[in-house]
Amino acid sequence: AARPYDPDNIFAKILRGEIPSNKVYEDAHALAFHDINPQAPRHILVIPKGAYVSWDDFAAKGSDAEIAGFVRAVGQVARDAGMVEPGYRLLANIGQDAHQEVPHLHVHIFAGRPLGPMLV
Ligand code: 5GP
Repeated sequence: AARPYDPDNIFAKILRGEIPSNKVYEDAHALAFHDINPQAPRHILVIPKGAYVSWDDFAAKGSDAEIAGFVRAVGQVARDAGMVEPGYRLLANIGQDAHQEVPHLHVHIFAGRPLGPMLV
């Protein structure tokens, strides 16, 4: 069964402004901020503003406008950061086996060095 959304998760608190984040982008559908524990020279997280546990939850229940807005925002963040050349990597963890720690959908953007082959 799908997990219910926990409104006390850390990214919900960031969205409500209850805890600070190092924001790089915000629009009607998305917020982007620097990861607190970067795994690459540049490591940004992009989250939708809606209450979705994961990519699975969002894909199933998000409106077309939310999904389109979020996908465009992810691209915009990377483009604005000048990452398109030489490139960047997107990653989303979904659930236990993927080691998803925060139960609010987030897409990781990694850049700033050659990232090597994809590790699973
Ligand atoms: P996950 O394993 O859920 O895909 O990744 C969660 C990410 O959130 C981790 O990379 C972690 O460093 C980051 N993170 C956890 N708590 C905070 C926080 O309070 N602020 C920020 N900016 N990032 C966080």
